Amino acid sequence: MTSQRTRERMVERLRENRGIRDEKVLGAMSRVPRHLFVEEALAHRAYEDDALPIGLGQTISQPYVVARMIAALREGGRELGRVLEVGSGCGYQAAVLAQLATEVYSIERIQALLDRARRNLLGLKLSNLRLVYGDGNAGLEKVAPFDSIILAAAAPEIPQVLLQQLAINGRMILPLKTPDAGRGTQQLVLIDRTARGFTETRLDAVRFVPLEAGKI
Ligand code: SAH
Repeated sequence: MTSQRTRERMVERLRENRGIRDEKVLGAMSRVPRHLFVEEALAHRAYEDDALPIGLGQTISQPYVVARMIAALREGGRELGRVLEVGSGCGYQAAVLAQLATEVYSIERIQALLDRARRNLLGLKLSNLRLVYGDGNAGLEKVAPFDSIILAAAAPEIPQVLLQQLAINGRMILPLKTPDAGRGTQQLVLIDRTARGFTETRLDAVRFVPLEAGKI
């Protein structure tokens, strides 16, 4: 249930049933063993297309949403370049990003989760991935600008600090709370930065844990 074949089936479903067409993203997801990022008791469900609990009230993102967000960042033949991820959680999406990006910086505000992510990632030896303990609302000023920024937690509004840390021709994707669309509803928003400013595209309805302030 945790074999390479099971993983291939998950990727096949993303391609055939969920319309993910970016073969590089699908390839990256077939290389990252998702069962290593969930608790042993849930490992048998690791290749279902579901979010799963990872402790401390947080979840590992649904494979479709990981694929959808990364594919959206790459759409139009873009490379991810230098990436900032806000919300490492168990480290799964960071590992997928690291397969495709030149460098990945992933921030997590819960120390206990970051420690867990570090342990999960140890065996994968991803030399281009850095995990950082901190509040992602502040981004990572020292390392900015980023070519790509991806939020794994839902923001009440577009974080202006992160927009400023996006390179010209950079792209950011985030789940945004939509108070007008009913309780708990969120939407993926894609933001492109050009020399002339920012453009915004609205994508799928999603459900993420909230972006919180401060670190614990
Ligand atoms: N990327 C993960 C999903 C993690 S869930 C995956 O691969 O499945 C979202 C994570 O965002 C949680 O771990 C939560 O603690 C974290 N988070 C929420 N607000 C944050 C903030 N301001 N800064 C950094 N991390 C934050």
